[in-house]
Amino acid sequence: MTPNKPVVVIVGGGFGGLAAARTLKNAPVDVVLIDRSNHHVFQPLLYQVATSVLAPGQIATPIRGALGKNKSTIVILGTVVDIQTGARNVIVDTEDRSGIPVHYDYLILATGVRESYFGHDEFREHAPGLKTLADAVALRNRILLAFEMAEGSEDPARRQDLLTFVMVGAGPTGVEMASAIAVLIKSTLKRDFRRVDPRSARIVLADRSDRVLGAFSPDLSAAAQRRLESLGVELLLGKSVEAIGETGVTIGGQHIETKTVIWTAGVAPSPAGKWLKAETDKGGRVRVRGDLSVVFVVGDTAYLEQNGKPLPGVAQVALQQGKYAAKVISARVQDEPSPAPFRYFDKGNLAVVGKGFAVLQTGKVKLSGFMAWLVWAAIHIQFLATTNLRLSVLVQWMWTYLTSQRGSRLIVKHHGDK
Ligand SMILES: Cc1cc2nc3c(=O)[nH]c(=O)nc-3n(C[C@H](O)[C@H](O)[C@H](O)COP(=O)(O)OP(=O)(O)OC[C@H]3O[C@@H](n4cnc5c(N)ncnc54)[C@H](O)[C@@H]3O)c2cc1C
Repeated sequence: MTPNKPVVVIVGGGFGGLAAARTLKNAPVDVVLIDRSNHHVFQPLLYQVATSVLAPGQIATPIRGALGKNKSTIVILGTVVDIQTGARNVIVDTEDRSGIPVHYDYLILATGVRESYFGHDEFREHAPGLKTLADAVALRNRILLAFEMAEGSEDPARRQDLLTFVMVGAGPTGVEMASAIAVLIKSTLKRDFRRVDPRSARIVLADRSDRVLGAFSPDLSAAAQRRLESLGVELLLGKSVEAIGETGVTIGGQHIETKTVIWTAGVAPSPAGKWLKAETDKGGRVRVRGDLSVVFVVGDTAYLEQNGKPLPGVAQVALQQGKYAAKVISARVQDEPSPAPFRYFDKGNLAVVGKGFAVLQTGKVKLSGFMAWLVWAAIHIQFLATTNLRLSVLVQWMWTYLTSQRGSRLIVKHHGDK
């Protein structure tokens, strides 16, 4: 650290944290970025790792590499467990030490969200979610293993259980995951197996709401629904999950025997509100002012209203807030006037429903089909963290689109692991 230079600690190297660190590159401050992972993940493409389209290294990049040009930035691999707002310390646990205080003059919290099982934490054991690269690889293992085990099974009932996949939650993640599994099965796996027919697999997408993609307009959500049905995805809408266990899932009184339930429903913010003892919304997101400060809380873990509505938990909000917090700090340390209060610039909503089909809603423009998918592909490539990732994903998508081949169908685990 440089004497007399203010220290900005950023917790989280996701969209918000990375954007803040990059914006502070030339500011007269030292930056310490702390993350419990050594990599930044492009979460919108996690489902493509889980369904073998992309390899983990194509959607994630080491945080040190992403900030390689930031000469005044130190990266610490560790988990923040508490914050002492009085003493201005962040308390970090690392692999070999716990409770290390890291002092800050300015603090940006960008710790995102984790799954919420709506008070049913017992569901977690049988219904993993999709938030991290490790989650995506574990799901990929699970999906591919189910086919391997079905191929070796003599029992038709067990085979059907193994080939039944249930997604709980029909927001963008559930829709993208269900349609990607359908495409994986119908276009790639059908060539790989001899004894089982992957096309006999059952894919169920359930939600307590009566339509998929609730954040989109009813006509776009109907278009997505028709597309899902044409891919063979079974929709169980307007029904709540009652139980998830060893043998399967019970939804609206109906028990579905399955070995694979994927939780794509709720999220809960990180414990930032608890650390700060700050006011939160009922979900636990920290209520922030227009300049984003309690300390500075950005992205999924922050709650801010605009035009009377809470901002959504999407990457663009995190990116724009991360940059904004960095600009406010930069102005403060240089005694310059603060920027005007934060305003989110909404670029719209997008979701993919299988190969070559997406729904797009931005302002008055609504689109579904191949053109929307091209826009989706262009935007996602543009927002990947490095040029290396952009090129790699572009080439992989073109290859997969033309050949339906998925080279990442690898089951990676220790022998004996469950
Ligand atoms: C499967 C999936 C699909 C999505 N699809 C889309 C999409 O299509 N479009 C879209 O706009 N948005 C999408 N999102 C949402 C988007 O990814 C989030 O809004 C965005 O990542 C939020 O950015 P963030 O910086 O707030 O948090 P994150 O990007 O989640 O980053 C949080 C960081 O904090 C670190 N961290 C957390 N707790 C601690 C701790 N205690 N100590 C140290 N480090 C910690 C984490 O390791 C992580 O690196 C999707 C999310 C998921 C999970």
